Amino acid sequence: MLSPLALPAPQEARRWLVQRCDDSLARAAQTVAELKSAQDPSAAQVVDAWNEIQIALGNASAAASVHSETHPDAAVREAGDDAMRRIDAFSTDLGLDRELSDIVGAVSDEGLDHDSARLLSRIRRDFHRSGVDRDEATRARLKELAELELAASQEFSRNIRDGVRTIRVRPEDLAGLPEDWLKDHPADDNGLVTVTTDYPDSVPLMSFCTNRATREAMTLERLNVAWPVNDEVLLRLIALRQERATLLGYATWADFDAEVKMIKTGTAIREFIDKIAAAAQDSALRDKGVVLRRMQQDVPEAQDITSVDLAYYGELVRKETYDVDAQLVRTYFDFAAVRQGLLDVTARLFGLSWVAVLDAPVWHPDVTAYDVVRDDERIGRIYLDLHPRDGKFKHAAQFDLVSGVTGRQLPEGVLVCNLTRGLMEHDEVVTLFHEFGHLIHHVVGGNQRYVRFSGVATEWDFVEAPSQMLEEWAWDPTVLASFAKNDAGQPIPAALVERMKKGEDFGKGYQARTQMFYAGLSHALYTDPQTDVTATLREQQQRYSVFPYIPGTHFHCAFGHLDGYSSGYYTYMWSLVIAKDMFSAFDPHDLFDEHVASRYRDTVLAPGGSHDAADLVADFLGRPYSFDAYAEWLAR
Ligand SMILES: [Zn+2]
Repeated sequence: MLSPLALPAPQEARRWLVQRCDDSLARAAQTVAELKSAQDPSAAQVVDAWNEIQIALGNASAAASVHSETHPDAAVREAGDDAMRRIDAFSTDLGLDRELSDIVGAVSDEGLDHDSARLLSRIRRDFHRSGVDRDEATRARLKELAELELAASQEFSRNIRDGVRTIRVRPEDLAGLPEDWLKDHPADDNGLVTVTTDYPDSVPLMSFCTNRATREAMTLERLNVAWPVNDEVLLRLIALRQERATLLGYATWADFDAEVKMIKTGTAIREFIDKIAAAAQDSALRDKGVVLRRMQQDVPEAQDITSVDLAYYGELVRKETYDVDAQLVRTYFDFAAVRQGLLDVTARLFGLSWVAVLDAPVWHPDVTAYDVVRDDERIGRIYLDLHPRDGKFKHAAQFDLVSGVTGRQLPEGVLVCNLTRGLMEHDEVVTLFHEFGHLIHHVVGGNQRYVRFSGVATEWDFVEAPSQMLEEWAWDPTVLASFAKNDAGQPIPAALVERMKKGEDFGKGYQARTQMFYAGLSHALYTDPQTDVTATLREQQQRYSVFPYIPGTHFHCAFGHLDGYSSGYYTYMWSLVIAKDMFSAFDPHDLFDEHVASRYRDTVLAPGGSHDAADLVADFLGRPYSFDAYAEWLAR
């Protein structure tokens, strides 16, 4: 039986990481050398060798990335970044290696099984997209560009990680915040309370603080994280990517990037954004009017509403119109119970069990490890790293630690979040379910012969569909009642959850428009020539968002997806359309129906990237995916 990766004790991490990187690069280099010296290798030999190389490189880069984003010791994070640069340089050389590409080009795919033929075609596509067939000067520049791009990308993330801002206010300026939150934020010797831009601090403040000046001060800090430093970094990153796309013969980076996605072209991205924006128009304006009128009861002179007031008055509307008191709601969501509840729910749904591994070495005491067991067999391991700390990744994401390969290595993944330690907002519960959807995809899809297809290795604009679909379980009264209990042990009432759902549906039109503003920004930055990102931001906000820009803010500087997703932020909405469609196959009155869930697990998640996502979804639904379920939900 396969054993999980043995992680080092925290003080050993740096040495361990460098070693893992060295070993992996050596193994990859050796496999390359063997392939080059082989006499007329067969196609099967080529794909097997390629799999070895990708396993080695993937193992090194996954460990490097997890450590770079999570390790409490800055020196280890730096070692992670350094390892990433070395692996990236190796991969770039590989992609530009003519001798290798000739070997791959010379074999015939005749007689290959489906997965091997698919892998061979992917290897060839990758070679073409990395520019191996370009002249020598171009290849030299492409190599340079790859290094510069990675450096800029790492700089962008580091500036966000290290860019936490704070406000200092008097305790009376925090009126409206929950008692336990206030208790966790005592005044210092000067009588002032420090509140950071980290989510557990700033999200409740924006939702509940009755003092507009405090909300305004926090808004300005939140929307200026990593500004001005990341302004220049982002412009540089965009220019480098655009240059690469041009050298490779694409009109824009968006075209280059979209080619390997479900959406296929940059133009189709803008069309999709416009289609969603139009579909959301009526409901966006209707619900915005409701929030604005509620604000005008307090501020009669208010003409418009911005992010200073949106969360706060949105919350008030939910409370007054739908009788959803977020502060009452959070009394049902104690972190420890939610974490256990999530594990129980997903275990039941997907036929798995999560077995705590108490003696597993972890990088911080907050981290918990679980073995994933199916039919008495360990099929993977997961790590949950769920609370904020200095120098840690600031958002929520699933990181691969090891990609599963049948008979070789177990899939292992890490959830990295920034959740409250005590009573959680329901939004945080939804986030946790979302990220767990990625983790399950990674593990369940991790039984593959070729690492290239392991886990969340589908087209990148499909990856958010399984995670967004799992969010639905965090809105179901029966599911929530199984773990969400207040101090007195009473489960959350079904009627309250029904009202929460109505409250959540309120504002979905303007939220969709805000999402299209982000998607439009991500597309514009990587399509049109850029000199002033803030100007593009303002232009896209005006075009898609129904809320105005706040002068003096620079949201883009801390919007990590502008690096990671580049032109592809539309992915979330594209995936949501598919998630709503897939969810329509489940019985909304019985979300624990194991037949549908196990069919979903086996047809959509288990194949990983071994087939096109559209085919997996069609296999599950019995028909091609469509826009209808999403449009119906939006109009509701
Ligand atoms: Zn996600």
